[in-house]
Amino acid sequence: MSGVNEIRSAYLNYFAKNGHEIVPSSPLVPRNDPTLMFTNAGMVQFKNVFTGLEKRPYQRATSSQKCVRAGGKHNDLDNVGYTARHHTFFEMLGNFSFGDYFKDRAIELAWNLITKEYGLPKDKLLVTVYSEDDEAFGLWKKIAGLPESKIIRIGTSDNFWQMGDTGPCGPCSEIFFDHGDKIWGGPPGSAEEDGDRFIEIWNLVFMQFDQIAPGNRVALPKPSIDTGMGLERIAAVLQGKHDNYEIDLFVALIRAIAELTGADPNGEQKASLRVIADHLRASSFLISDGVLPSNEGRGYVLRRIMRRAMRHGQLLGAKEPLMYRLVWALVREMGQAYPELVRAENLIEETLKLEETRFRKTLDRGLSILDEKSASLKKGDMFDGETAFTLYDTYGFPLDLTQDALRNRGIGVDIASFTDAMDRQRAKARASWAGSGDTATETIWFPLREKLGASEFLGYDTEVAEGVVT
Ligand code: ATP
Ligand code: MG
Ligand code: MG
Ligand code: MG
Repeated sequence: MSGVNEIRSAYLNYFAKNGHEIVPSSPLVPRNDPTLMFTNAGMVQFKNVFTGLEKRPYQRATSSQKCVRAGGKHNDLDNVGYTARHHTFFEMLGNFSFGDYFKDRAIELAWNLITKEYGLPKDKLLVTVYSEDDEAFGLWKKIAGLPESKIIRIGTSDNFWQMGDTGPCGPCSEIFFDHGDKIWGGPPGSAEEDGDRFIEIWNLVFMQFDQIAPGNRVALPKPSIDTGMGLERIAAVLQGKHDNYEIDLFVALIRAIAELTGADPNGEQKASLRVIADHLRASSFLISDGVLPSNEGRGYVLRRIMRRAMRHGQLLGAKEPLMYRLVWALVREMGQAYPELVRAENLIEETLKLEETRFRKTLDRGLSILDEKSASLKKGDMFDGETAFTLYDTYGFPLDLTQDALRNRGIGVDIASFTDAMDRQRAKARASWAGSGDTATETIWFPLREKLGASEFLGYDTEVAEGVVT
């Protein structure tokens, strides 16, 4: 049975053999896109190549890209620990054609890889196409020999990809694996599609149009291909597991956490072990790419991930900082593929240790307030937003940590009163500065703080609180 490292190499070598340049992963902080919080797909480093702004010495590329989906448009933070298929950090395997091959070859390459190289049984596979994409429908029939019942037409934006409001766009086609009827879930397009039975493993994007303006779309003279396959998801399939957290890499990380804390990997504390393993990866990779915990922007997303993991460490009974003592296990598993982890090992350990030491000073007290104030609540009730704000402001509890802590009991947090409390505190801070005579503070610092605060907070509203599974 292949391990994650072999599966990654097999993918890259297969595409290299088929004329693709192997390109290393780009960093998690995108270099060419200030609007993007973190690199969240393999195509990010090639954006300008697709639009023609940048030329590369090759027309076909393949990569295993480090991705984080814990902020911005794609946010899977709230899914971690609750679905079998989502991580905050994951690796996206991809192959790209910059105006070279198109739909037929892309489908052929993908199909041959999964059925021949990886040897997946054809009867467990099904695909989706964009409802209007008759061409893709026909190609799947011809190349893969799939029956029409296994080529599902989807009319939503899930199967139509756009780089932005303008620019390259086009239909996509996704490959799903059926993990069997012991697991809840329905095929794509059905009411139960969010279950974990039919797992999306690979997305093939056919960039064939240029959106010039709203309502004005023209055919690209040289259409392109962008694909993305989650390494952990294909590894689960190849290792005969139903769950990403049961693949070799996660088993090794979870074992290390269980050994340190005494938790039982198959017992009640399973979800906490998974969250810690996932967040250890995300935190360590973010730190090694230069992100440090802070109170705004990217640094705050990192802080949220770290603190969430730390609360779960507390749930496992850890009395001392835990996360930094796990870094060696991650480096052992992933250091060879990502030497930046090895280089940053000390920095990662120190950053985790410092953050956890600090957070521990308020974590206990904060958790007991949370328990006290929620003791009388039952399923469907709302936790008071004022208290959630006190936890945030005085005890350093990011809002999503509080939400996560109450989620198991089916209790939500009253966001409106949380926002109110935050607004009131801002107004108070502003008033207490009025008349200080310090105009620089008033004209620069406050607007800035409000702007940053506002964008940070918007993040909660639009991304974290909803916890959407796309
Ligand atoms: P899902 O519907 O399961 O949330 P997605 O449609 O959001 O996935 P894409 O944006 O199409 O995912 O990304 C391409 C591939 O990357 C997916 O087919 C999947 O294999 C993988 N992937 C996406 N999000 C995650 C995640 N949070 N953790 C692990 N793998 C992921
Ligand atoms: Mg998809
Ligand atoms: Mg999807
Ligand atoms: Mg998604």
